[in-house]
Amino acid sequence: MNKELVKELCDLIKGEILLNELLSKHTSFRIGGHADVWIYPKDISDIKNILTFCNSYNIPVTTIGGGTNVLISDKGIRGVVLNLEHGLCGIKTKRERITCGAGALLSKLLKQASKEELTGLEFAVGIPGTVGGAVGMNAGTKEIRNLEYISIGDLVESVKVIDMNGNVSELRKDDLCFEYRKSNLSEYIILEIKLKLKTGSKKEINDRISRLLEHKKSTQVLDIPSAGCIFKNPDGHSAGKLIDEAGLKGLAIGDAQISEKHANFIVNNGNASAQDVLNLIKKIKLTVFEKTGVKLEEEIKIIGI
Ligand SMILES: Cc1cc2nc3c(=O)[nH]c(=O)nc-3n(C[C@H](O)[C@H](O)[C@H](O)COP(=O)(O)OP(=O)(O)OC[C@H]3O[C@@H](n4cnc5c(N)ncnc54)[C@H](O)[C@@H]3O)c2cc1C
Repeated sequence: MNKELVKELCDLIKGEILLNELLSKHTSFRIGGHADVWIYPKDISDIKNILTFCNSYNIPVTTIGGGTNVLISDKGIRGVVLNLEHGLCGIKTKRERITCGAGALLSKLLKQASKEELTGLEFAVGIPGTVGGAVGMNAGTKEIRNLEYISIGDLVESVKVIDMNGNVSELRKDDLCFEYRKSNLSEYIILEIKLKLKTGSKKEINDRISRLLEHKKSTQVLDIPSAGCIFKNPDGHSAGKLIDEAGLKGLAIGDAQISEKHANFIVNNGNASAQDVLNLIKKIKLTVFEKTGVKLEEEIKIIGI
């Protein structure tokens, strides 16, 4: 984007604008080239103005939350990248209902819910990133006692969104569709989420959080950069188990390695490039398909490639 356009954009909005921002700083994988323009919009009117501006100059717009489920190209992202963590991050509770800005951290929402003795969100412990990212991805976890999947979509009452033309609307339960790690919100920027929880006991909530966190710590890789699970679990299978049984655990390409602890995690041992990760993903898909006939599908979002 040339200087004149940047100046015009600066005059239009109240939020912070960063030029040529390194995206590896904003992803849990610690991978990703530069964004032409990174913006922390201050409010919804900033987002509207950015969209109108970008549409009139044909500039692409991408939204990144906590960057914990993305693989961003080594070449980065052209155009404008929006991040809502500074401007749209409020959390308000009214009895069993919580209204939350899409840029709020999921961990902060969980903390607030447990403080207010509201139950239902405990499964989110240890899931990094923002509430907007979690709702778009329908983030969830297998409840360890009864082995049921619980996802954030189960708790959502409504979602305020803006479409790429700048129209804001409120989507209610009937308009929303949540499936395993999928929602019908991919055409929108998620702005605000209303969740309905249940009143619970502080002790039971905290016990459940501790139990799930212990389970996470023992099964997932939390101390080396990654993007969580790379693949969705295919129907009736565990992606991690398929990769493990294909003998791939520990395989590395460059600094990208299939975790020894959890075969559905690829870790960045230092200087992995997006291309290293992509090559490893290709190798895993091919090997698992050859050995089992099962096609693995990425859970992570690959951006800029
Ligand atoms: C160690 C680790 C453990 C994890 N464990 C789990 C787990 O147990 N369960 C699970 O489900 N996931 C897990 N994840 C994956 C990830 O944390 C979740 O998917 C998370 O909810 C993504 O949120 P985010 O804000 O980081 O989204 P991002 O990674 O920033 O974005 C994900 C996608 O959502 C889009 N997006 C983000 N914000 C918005 C918005 N406001 N409006 C529209 N689109 C948006 C992005 O464009 C992108 O397509 C884990 C990841 C890590 C690194």
